[in-house]
Amino acid sequence: MTFDEFDLDSPLLEGIAKMGYHKPTPVQQEAIPAMLERADVLVGAATGTGKTAAFVLPALQYLLDEPRPTRHPRILILAPTRELAFQIHKTVKQLSHNCDFPTAVITGGFNQATQAQTLRKPTDIIVATPGRLAKMMEEDQVNLSYIELLVLDEADRMLDMGQGPTVRTLLEAIPDEFQAALFSATLAGAGVRKFAEDILDEPQEIQI
Ligand code: AMP
Repeated sequence: MTFDEFDLDSPLLEGIAKMGYHKPTPVQQEAIPAMLERADVLVGAATGTGKTAAFVLPALQYLLDEPRPTRHPRILILAPTRELAFQIHKTVKQLSHNCDFPTAVITGGFNQATQAQTLRKPTDIIVATPGRLAKMMEEDQVNLSYIELLVLDEADRMLDMGQGPTVRTLLEAIPDEFQAALFSATLAGAGVRKFAEDILDEPQEIQI
């Protein structure tokens, strides 16, 4: 199988080629078409499987398919740690090199006023850790009411770190009609199952 077999536009295929990816990994082979069909997905895949590109590529294609109706963010990617958020953001930038969608990384450890300033400009994609984003929401520095696609990466780790309630608070600010993808190293735990059940709508389950 090649990346050409997916319904991805040429700017993304060019981004993939530039990264030196020749063949989609197993998680990409399953998650990319499901997400492109606008299905919710529940994915069990560990780090190192290519899971980041598996959700970043459909997210970028979503923006290419749907012209921007707002200056507020439309795609939200949540990660449990700052390091992971920055790593995801880097992949977003690399794969969207030819499309230039405005993005923001929102995490603790950096100046909140600067982050708020970034969000005053049009933004399509936010990559965030839950705590700082919730704080900025409380302070009316971010508007999540235009989010159309939500990705939770390493959801099991989020729950282990006690971020479940914060994520649920963020979800209350998002309108009901959104596509969601939950990625987790394991799908075995009762906690992650319940979390997925509450957030996802008839998800396609993918286990790598
Ligand atoms: P991840 O599991 O998302 O952390 O990705 C692990 C590593 O695999 C990263 O260095 C990616 O750049 C790389 N990678 C992702 N997809 C592919 C692919 N289709 N072919 C080769 N390398 C890839």
